[in-house]
Formats: sequence, C-alpha cells, structure tokens
Amino acid sequence: LTLTREEAAALDRCDELAGFRDRFVLPEGLIYLDGNSLGPLPVATKARVGEVVEREWGQSLIRSWTDHGWIDLQFRIGEKIARLIGAAPGTTVVADSTSVNLYKLLAAALHRRPDRRVILTEAGNFPTDLYIAQGLAAHLQLGHEVREATNVLSTLDDTVGVLMLTHVNYRSGAMHDVAALTRAAHAAGALALWDLSHSVGAVPLQLEADGVDIAVGCGYKYLNGGPGAPAFLYIAKHMQNELRLPLTGWLGHAAPFAFESGYRPAPGIGRAVVGTPPVLSLAALEIGIDIALEAPMAAVRAKSLALAELFMTLMAEESAFTLLTPQAAPRRGSQVAFAHPQGYAIMQALIERGVIGDFRSPDVLRFGLAPLYVRFVDIWDAVATLRDVMRSAAWKQDRFQRRRSVT
Ligand SMILES: *Cc1c(COP(=O)(O)O)cnc(C)c1O
Repeated sequence: LTLTREEAAALDRCDELAGFRDRFVLPEGLIYLDGNSLGPLPVATKARVGEVVEREWGQSLIRSWTDHGWIDLQFRIGEKIARLIGAAPGTTVVADSTSVNLYKLLAAALHRRPDRRVILTEAGNFPTDLYIAQGLAAHLQLGHEVREATNVLSTLDDTVGVLMLTHVNYRSGAMHDVAALTRAAHAAGALALWDLSHSVGAVPLQLEADGVDIAVGCGYKYLNGGPGAPAFLYIAKHMQNELRLPLTGWLGHAAPFAFESGYRPAPGIGRAVVGTPPVLSLAALEIGIDIALEAPMAAVRAKSLALAELFMTLMAEESAFTLLTPQAAPRRGSQVAFAHPQGYAIMQALIERGVIGDFRSPDVLRFGLAPLYVRFVDIWDAVATLRDVMRSAAWKQDRFQRRRSVT
C-alpha cells in the first residue's frame, strides 16, 4: 500500500475528533463502515433509555407527558436538529419516518402548485423517495407524473411543481449543491424538497441561508438515534402557515386537549405533527443528536474528506474496482462507493473478516465514513482486508454467494 499503517496511525494521533470514539459502543475487532445505514449505539443511550423506562414510564406514568416534558420532546429535539442543519428556531420537528414525512411534505407542496403536474427528481434517487412520489401521484388522480432526470437542471421547466432531491446519493455518495438547485427550482416557479438522510450529522448544512423550502431527514444514520429512530422535517418559516398538510392528526391541532370535533392546524411547525410520538425512541435519538452537536462541523467535514481521500488513494491500485464517488471534495458526501461485478460476495467476505460495509444492488460496495468514530487506521485495515479477500479469492466460497434479505 502507498501509505504505511504507521502513517495512518499518525493521522489518528493528530485527530481533534479522536476523543468522540469512546462515546460509542464499538465491538472489539470490528471496523464499522456502515454508520450511514445504522449508526452505532452511543454509550450514554442505554442508561438514558433505562431511566425513561424505569422512572418516567414506570413510576410517573401518564404524568410524564407534562412532568417529564414528553409532550414537548419532538419540538425540543427538533430545535437541536435545526442547529445541525442551519435552520432557524421553530422550523424543525421530529416526527414519523422519513418516508411518511416525504409524503406529508410532497403532498403539501403539490397543493401549493395546483397548476403543475410534474414532480421532478433524479434517476437513481433512493427508492422510498421515488415510491412515495409515485404512490402520491397515482393517488391524486390528477395526472401527476414523477420525472426521473439524469440532469435535473436542464429538465426544470414551468410544468414542474416540486423538485424533490436527496442531497447525498445513497449509492455513489455524490452531493448536490443545495443553494444552486433550490435557486433554480425557484426560478422555474417550483418548490424544492430536500431529503437530508445521508447528510445530516456528516456534512455541513445551511438550510436557511440556502433558501430551502422544505426538507426531511433520517435519525438512525449519522445521527446515531437507533434502529428505526424517528425522522425529522423542516418547513421554512414563511411557508408554515400556508402549507396544507395531508395528515391532520390530533397532535397537529391548535388545541389537542380541547377535543374539538373540527380540525384547526397548530400555528407554525406544530401542524406537521400527526399522532402520539414514540417517547422511548425519542429519548435514544436525543443522545445521538447531543453528541453530534458537540462536534465542530468544520472538523467533522475535514476528517470525513480526509478519510475518503485515504480510502480512494489506497484503492487506486485495485483496478478491478470502479470508483463511483466523485473525487472533487465539494461534490462528495461522507461515503465512498465502488462497483465490482462480484460486489455482493466480496462484501460478505469482508463482513466475515470484521469489516462492515454494505452492498447496494446491482454491484455497489458502500463504505460510510462517520468521522466521530472511524479512524484512519480503520481505513487502512479495511483496504488491507479487502486486498486479502481479493488476493486469496476468499469471496468465491459458496456461502458468500447466497443473498440475504437485508444487504
Ligand atoms: C435512509 C433513507 C430513507 C429512510 O426512510 P425510512 O422511512 O426511514 O425507511 C429515506 N430516504 C433516503 C434518501 C434515505 O437514505
């Protein structure tokens, strides 16, 4: 390899984020490069969830909605996420899943552009984003079309009601320019809906400065909120009172405990809430977000780029792999991806040797680089393991060929 393991270890010794690694449970002997799919367990989460279960639920019971602030939890954590995404106070709330939030915001955005019938997105966007848009378009029965473009800029025209994009592509790790594309959407008279699932907690975001209208994001990837953690959504201040959201549940009502028979939307971001929040999951999510808030984003971004550069440099000699991630730093999120026709079996062999990345159909090996706990030596060891898997042809063994239900 072009750089020695000792040189990689030296990079770790000058890493100002190195201390964050101890905040996570990372099993001995494992190199975890899949935090972009499921972030690891923060050490503090177990005690916090235990406390909520035993004291707040167990002892205080229903009084906890007020005594322990359960009823405000979604908003309190939403304010913390707002700081991570460069959003103004009162614009961000934790609710539902990313898929459900996409539905809510896409429907509300289409309602604001009643004379336009195109939802413009990118070919290769994450499937749930495409499926939600397709399902909504079909359900409306108004002739809406989901257009998947390879070049969205040249496809933006006055038929487009909503430009719906994922900031960082889940396969390649390519990153869009939020400000430029939002401006282009607005110039075409469309609204812009951003999915921040693969960016929040890993790359700098400035939603307010970039003029973003609406956005959603995921809690269990780089925010380390736990499996199936609740998601979040953002609505710019100026749009909140004019958006008609399609799911009008009681906790999005202006006065839920007045038990009125008619729906009246809560003022501001409150209307984006639907039903009773998952308190235990919120407690876990908050721990992950608190850790993310402690880490200076400039350092997180710099380390993320450096980890990826090391990975790409070490892989340059492996000619059987095609780099899918853009090499230009501003165009990259926080992962690297390579195509190989035997990608699935190779990834299975890597996982058996303790290097956990993942595989995305049809041929993509994906490695998430979470700067709070991934070290430079981990990258060195991961590439060394990959070389060994290739040199020994270990991946050819039968047991690595069988597809499991989650890849
Ligand atoms: C992970 C991810 C989701 C997750 O959606 P869920 O509703 O939580 O299953 C959605 N969109 C993108 C782009 C993602 O990366």
